[in-house]
Amino acid sequence: MSQESYSDRDRSFALAKRAHDLIRDYGPSATPRAYAVWYAYVSGELPLLGDSIKRLTTQNGSLTESDIDDLHETYLDGRQLTSTTGDVSRGMLDEIAAVTEILDLSLGSTAQYGEALRGLAQDLAQGMPTRARLGEIVSTLVSTTREVAVNNRVLEARMRETRSEIETLREKLEASRLESLTDALTGLSNRKHFEETLKASLEAARLGATPMSLIVLDIDFFKRFNDLYGHLTGDQVLRLVAIVMRENAGKQALLARFGGEEFGIVLPGADRTLARQVAEQVRASVMGRELVKRSTGESLGKVTISLGIAVLHAEDTPASLLERADLCMFAAKRAGRNRVVDDAADSLSQVA
Ligand code: GH3
Ligand code: MG
Ligand code: MG
Repeated sequence: MSQESYSDRDRSFALAKRAHDLIRDYGPSATPRAYAVWYAYVSGELPLLGDSIKRLTTQNGSLTESDIDDLHETYLDGRQLTSTTGDVSRGMLDEIAAVTEILDLSLGSTAQYGEALRGLAQDLAQGMPTRARLGEIVSTLVSTTREVAVNNRVLEARMRETRSEIETLREKLEASRLESLTDALTGLSNRKHFEETLKASLEAARLGATPMSLIVLDIDFFKRFNDLYGHLTGDQVLRLVAIVMRENAGKQALLARFGGEEFGIVLPGADRTLARQVAEQVRASVMGRELVKRSTGESLGKVTISLGIAVLHAEDTPASLLERADLCMFAAKRAGRNRVVDDAADSLSQVA
């Protein structure tokens, strides 16, 4: 065993022990799901999972079974995708088997054709065959040719079918990939895709020495809105916020709903001035929309949002950037909501 894999093994035991200690101290109980969540936490590979756990344990002192279920579903559950992908690749294998069978069929008839031709050549080499023999050879050739032609037509038709089957499978695979990255309610990116894009954008910004900003936004008094008009109407508001974000954030932006009524906008290339401009525009547009219940025409008033902006620093990680944007968003709430706060020292100290 190499030294490196030995130390990997030591590290995994050390992580397992820490996960075990944390389950004992923070709960809920040593189920495989709880273990998986805590193990992912101590491995540090999912910074946003880490943030959520810190938030929950700070708030409540421990984790409940339902926290574990939520965390598992949000950060670790790739099973749905894996099984869809599995179905699709099984489909692909069946198709490949069908193509191989068709090729065998075609090679078979070609071989037969070749044999008939060889027979003719042999007879010719031995001198002019009799009229009867010639007739025999010609009729063999004609029937073999016909067979090859029929086989080729079958082959062609089956190839066409197979091609369209493969095309359908490819589309299914693409659809299931997109589904795994999309929030079903709003059509924006989900948390998983958001995390990946945030990380990739951060690396690209660093590589290209270009600016980058992150906006986090949260609907104001949304609980009150839900309580007053119901969860389904609340969902319409979430969709509306998503539409306004799409209309105002620009082509470069990555838009995500990363849970509940919190949204994120990754802005590659955007410095503080541009990020503030986008945030202000989204804020003003959300506020400018009067909400009307379609079924009754009843006016539901307006909603507002609070936004926080973090501008990339040299030493940022995705988690630190997100944490700063979050802090700014909370500062905007404290300062009276329906406003934008960025992480410039003066604007944060104004509201702290
Ligand atoms: P604040 O201004 O401080 O953000 O107040 P708030 O009421 O928006 O904040 P809070 O975090 O207390 O409430 C968030 C509410 O969002 C709780 C829940 O009812 C609602 N919510 C979360 N996810 C969804 C969702 O998917 N659909 C709907 N309709 N409501 C949701
Ligand atoms: Mg809110
Ligand atoms: Mg919230």
